[in-house]
Amino acid sequence: MRSIKPITALFASSEVFPFAKSGGLADVSYSLPRALSSMVAITVAMPLYRTIDREKYSIKPLGISAEINISGTPHHTELYGCEYQGMEYIFIHSPVLSERDYLYGPPGEGYVDNALRFGLFSYAIVDLVKRYRFDVLHLNDWQTALSALLVHRDPDLNTKTVFTIHNLAYQGIFDHHMLGALGISDEYFTMGTLEYYGNINLMKAAIAFADKVTTVSPQYAKEILTPEYGNGLEGFLQSHSDKLVGILNGIDSTHFSPKDDKALVKRYDSKSLSNKKVNKKACLKETGLQDIERPLFVFIGRLVAQKGLDILIDALDDIASLPINILIRGEGEEHYRSELKRLAAKHENISFIYGYDEAISHRIYASADFLMMPSLYEPCGLNQLIAMRYGTMPIVRSTGGLIDSVLPIEEYDASSTTGHGFVFSQETSDALSLSVTKAFESYAKKRSFNKVLRHNMQVDLSWGDRAKQYFELYTTLLSKTV
Ligand code: ADP
Repeated sequence: MRSIKPITALFASSEVFPFAKSGGLADVSYSLPRALSSMVAITVAMPLYRTIDREKYSIKPLGISAEINISGTPHHTELYGCEYQGMEYIFIHSPVLSERDYLYGPPGEGYVDNALRFGLFSYAIVDLVKRYRFDVLHLNDWQTALSALLVHRDPDLNTKTVFTIHNLAYQGIFDHHMLGALGISDEYFTMGTLEYYGNINLMKAAIAFADKVTTVSPQYAKEILTPEYGNGLEGFLQSHSDKLVGILNGIDSTHFSPKDDKALVKRYDSKSLSNKKVNKKACLKETGLQDIERPLFVFIGRLVAQKGLDILIDALDDIASLPINILIRGEGEEHYRSELKRLAAKHENISFIYGYDEAISHRIYASADFLMMPSLYEPCGLNQLIAMRYGTMPIVRSTGGLIDSVLPIEEYDASSTTGHGFVFSQETSDALSLSVTKAFESYAKKRSFNKVLRHNMQVDLSWGDRAKQYFELYTTLLSKTV
């Protein structure tokens, strides 16, 4: 009998939880490979940033180094590795890529040499593919995109490439001269390849040359083909739409589990929902907010325009006039930071804590009654999924993955078991205020309110079937190999 050899895959990402995280990409890069590992022999590769705690995760040199030559300049790279929760990780160290204080640059800025940094990362990924002969190379976002071209132009490689777009707004656009500096010939400076209004666009390399392009929700897969959400790449994506598919992200149900979460003051599940109050009490104490009977509305996320910060800031005076508490937690652009600081000083029922901390965010999800997500666009969004898991009702704008994951409760209906939260469509502060008001009214109807929360906590948000879709995609690609 022929033995069945498992598919081998390399999953490459510029950030992976818990080693380095700036947003949802790190969560997905942690949880999707784990979910796939029961079906595929999968290894995860990422840069070894200086900020990663090598001792904590027992990250050790593998004794393998390579001189990666890019356009005549040799870059010394060394491989490190660790096993974490049963998964195998490979870390790529090279001074230009690794020795920085931030992953991509200080808040709101990118390092000027990011093209070279992540170009080098992309070369190092392909070096790994050559070394270990993976069947599938799964790339994520622009920081890994060049690898698709490098695999394509190498006649010795028949590895299949999958490229996942986590956020089309970040495409890796750089000056034309970087093409040569990255060792790519001018033959790739065409509209059908990397050229983008006189510059180079690294994401185009992956859209053009990957065997399959995925994005993180079915709705976003449709939206990015339109001028409103296509970020200038809608035409290019349309011409490759035959290989584009949207698969909704999941979350790791062990990591995001209020029943087992060690970060919480008091753990709970859908049968002990009232324990949320213990967390809320501690959270109010920590943040200086008063009156536990008031519903707590929170925002957690990057302080950038995408997350609807302008709408939120505009709505806050109005929302704060309700007898509720508002807690905002995030890190990002300075002008949002100062506006939020001003509003928190003005209203006793608004608290704003600038910063990023995984454990604090878990405690906030556990303490809150509502999560506000007025995003302008949202490829998938994980916060609303985490909120549902923690018995916190989402209030979202109907865009991207928020449409796929939050079914609206229109008129608050006690018998409803289909709605998950409040959904509004207009990009205005009035629309957000109106939803918050409706949500506030629903909070008073305790029985029906809790019924929805309990139902939300039981929705299957795990990777299960979604990881299977990726597995089927890998299998289909490999079955086409001659
Ligand atoms: P993004 O566009 O930032 O990737 P996602 O909704 O996909 O948005 O994922 C955001 C992830 O980052 C979630 O796990 C969320 O809880 C987390 N997060 C965002 N901001 C903070 C913060 N200030 N502190 C802790 N966690 C945060």
